[in-house]
Amino acid sequence: MHTQKLFYEDCSLRQFTACVTGCQKTDKGYAVTLDRTAFYPEGGGQACDTGILGSARVLDVRESDGQIIHLCDSPLSPGETAEGRIDYDRRFDLMQQHSGEHIVSGIVHKRFGFHNVGFHMGADVMEVDFDGFIPPEAIAQIELEANKAVWANLPVRCWYPSPEELPHVTYRTKRILPWPVRIVDIPDIDTCACCGIHVAATGQIGIIKILSCVKFRGGVRLEISCGARATTYLNRIFEENRQVSQAFSAKPLETGAAAHRMNELLAAEKFRCAGLQKQLFEKLAADYTGKGDVLVFYPGLTSAEIRELAEKIASSCNGTAAVLCEGKGRLDVCLVNLHGDVKELGSAMSQALGGRGGGKHGFFQGSLTTDRKAAEDFFARFGFDIS
Ligand SMILES: [Zn+2]
Repeated sequence: MHTQKLFYEDCSLRQFTACVTGCQKTDKGYAVTLDRTAFYPEGGGQACDTGILGSARVLDVRESDGQIIHLCDSPLSPGETAEGRIDYDRRFDLMQQHSGEHIVSGIVHKRFGFHNVGFHMGADVMEVDFDGFIPPEAIAQIELEANKAVWANLPVRCWYPSPEELPHVTYRTKRILPWPVRIVDIPDIDTCACCGIHVAATGQIGIIKILSCVKFRGGVRLEISCGARATTYLNRIFEENRQVSQAFSAKPLETGAAAHRMNELLAAEKFRCAGLQKQLFEKLAADYTGKGDVLVFYPGLTSAEIRELAEKIASSCNGTAAVLCEGKGRLDVCLVNLHGDVKELGSAMSQALGGRGGGKHGFFQGSLTTDRKAAEDFFARFGFDIS
């Protein structure tokens, strides 16, 4: 028996009563059927409604052969009259997204002739795919036109044209559909075959925001957000920008320029620091001229800097330079000898001081799980000059 679809008769219906016509236990809950329902089943890219039916929670709603099946968390008795209440906040959000998508798709189709070939309503944003390239500079125009359609508060008409009327209706569709076809029309904006539920008038959408446009499968993918979802998202961006504005002491509309300036400043400072460090390492290395094997502790170096310092010292000490740097719970180490092998020393050190790492011939780099004192004792045994 077909279920009477109250959601098509009144898209704002939140509460209704119906007679339970069946209830079957499944592995996910209880599959309940009614003689009529305001619960929209998943379909046309729109997620299903959830809510309360009698004393049960409605977790999922599907349609099968004209019958709407409500997956409930507890059973209902066939023959009983149950009151249904849909989660209208969720439904209204989904209607705002879906109607907003029709407006954008209609405008893109009118302006460019491209078709909506993919539609996904995610938890945060909607993704809509078009089969042609939309230049990025056109996005702001499309968005403005879409919002003008919202401000005009146009009626959204959903109906089933008769077999005689249907051939005279021009509408967007992904495939040839058998009669009856449900048409959703927004005057001068869009006419589309669709089984979803829509707001009664476009003003209810509130706002349409196109968040991004990227190339996708020979066309583009737009990320769109409408209504309360869009304002929530934009408020989050606003708050992030407020923090950036405060951190950079920049006006809210000048944070981008401030971030670019900061990046340039940072790059210049890095360059200056690298120059100063080079000079410092050369000066340090000069102190070890002709000293033979030396152990040097130096704080706060990256692994590249440890290697650079070890190579500089090795070039002046005429022996093996061992540079150690205290890291988080470990000692970073680099051994360099420009004229000899450090392989044996490296493996003895790894064994004695819990080391890891590797290298070749006159070079070894790694880390030790030991403290400074134990490391000094080890290198002292090998005759290193400790400084
Ligand atoms: Zn639709």
